[in-house]
Amino acid sequence: MYDLIVKDALIVTCNEEHTIIKNAVMAIREGIIEVLSPAESNIAKTLKAKKTISAENRMVLPGLINMHCHAGDSLFRGLVENLPLEAWLNRVWIAEKAILKPHTTYLGSVLGFAENLLSGVTSVMDMFWYPHEAVRAAQMLGMRVSTGGIFFDFPGIGERNHDRYIEEAREFSHRYTGTQDVFPVVMPHGTYTVCPEHLKEAKTIADAENALFCTHAAETKAEQADIQNRYGNTVIRHMDKHDLLGERTVLAHCVHVDEGEIDLITQSETTVVHNPMSNLKLASGIAPTIQMQKAGVRLTLGTDGAISGNDLDMWLAMRLASSLAKGVAMEPAALPAKDVLHMATLNGAQALGQEKTLGSLEVGKQADFIFVDVNTAHAVPLFDPITHCVFGAGRSDVSDVFVAGAQVVKDHTLTRHDLSETLSEVKSLMPFIKNSLSDA
Ligand SMILES: [Zn+2]
Repeated sequence: MYDLIVKDALIVTCNEEHTIIKNAVMAIREGIIEVLSPAESNIAKTLKAKKTISAENRMVLPGLINMHCHAGDSLFRGLVENLPLEAWLNRVWIAEKAILKPHTTYLGSVLGFAENLLSGVTSVMDMFWYPHEAVRAAQMLGMRVSTGGIFFDFPGIGERNHDRYIEEAREFSHRYTGTQDVFPVVMPHGTYTVCPEHLKEAKTIADAENALFCTHAAETKAEQADIQNRYGNTVIRHMDKHDLLGERTVLAHCVHVDEGEIDLITQSETTVVHNPMSNLKLASGIAPTIQMQKAGVRLTLGTDGAISGNDLDMWLAMRLASSLAKGVAMEPAALPAKDVLHMATLNGAQALGQEKTLGSLEVGKQADFIFVDVNTAHAVPLFDPITHCVFGAGRSDVSDVFVAGAQVVKDHTLTRHDLSETLSEVKSLMPFIKNSLSDA
């Protein structure tokens, strides 16, 4: 007896071969996909379950994986606009410092993760000040999160000193190693905000605790010039020199990287997170995704925080990633939909070290899946589901979301949390958030 059967499903598996199964049946037991088969197969005809649901008029996809987010920053959406990254960050930090306590961070995290989850994201890599609050928010909503201790050379929120940054990173990684819903990562902010010695300490903790290592890298031209001036090297060469690259390293952005840096990223099997919306809106530039893809870099996709790209929409990220690559190269076959869909699913799972359990719908994997409405004016006739995912579908088409076989979004509504409570609490904070910048 299975726990759940999904029938009448048009399944976009996102496996290595991009297999699509029409009129499929998926059977789940204890959160794991045990059967995935066409309805006319012998095995499909004999299945029995405690609950059966129909996915008629829906596409079924694996939950999306957002590899770069700052969910708590949703509190500050629209507060700082029209500035380049460096000036913009200085304003953002003033607001964060005035507002962020553990509880407000939790509120912002609920807001940001709810936006992700309602749009079909089931796993998020999140960098923020109180990682335990992010975990609490994600677990309450029923999604997976990769997060952990951050590092800056300045004290930051909560007046942390360097010892506390170290202790938090170590303690967090230690606590969540080996869990299925929290993937620990040590997260120094960037090479321009963290000195090489502290970056190396962060990497040592990550390696010792079997955690991932993630940082912002080569986001702007100004950052490249800054690192060149200070250390006589470009950002990626600087990281390579200090042994910070590797298959457990995740670099957000890589907008300004030269051929030699792309080679270093490829050879070290480092992951790159492309954040097209954030890079465009902050006028940082357009990442050389085609060159990176040709070199064999593992490319993943992210939204960044709601203060830079202003929304946490992975469907928009997918559409921009493919369109920008095509437009920049003037090559319509560049970065096709199937590759971009992998950036938002399977590649993310590989980057998290979870490719055996997440990122595609396959027998033996976790049952993290979403329903996408395709009985709409913008989906019918549906000749090519994968192209529709990238160029036609949007987050409002996501109706239902399951994590480990449990339904966490039902008919566009969270099942485990009354979002209106969070919304009214955040609204009550608005005067304080606005005032945080009044003297700045
Ligand atoms: Zn970021």
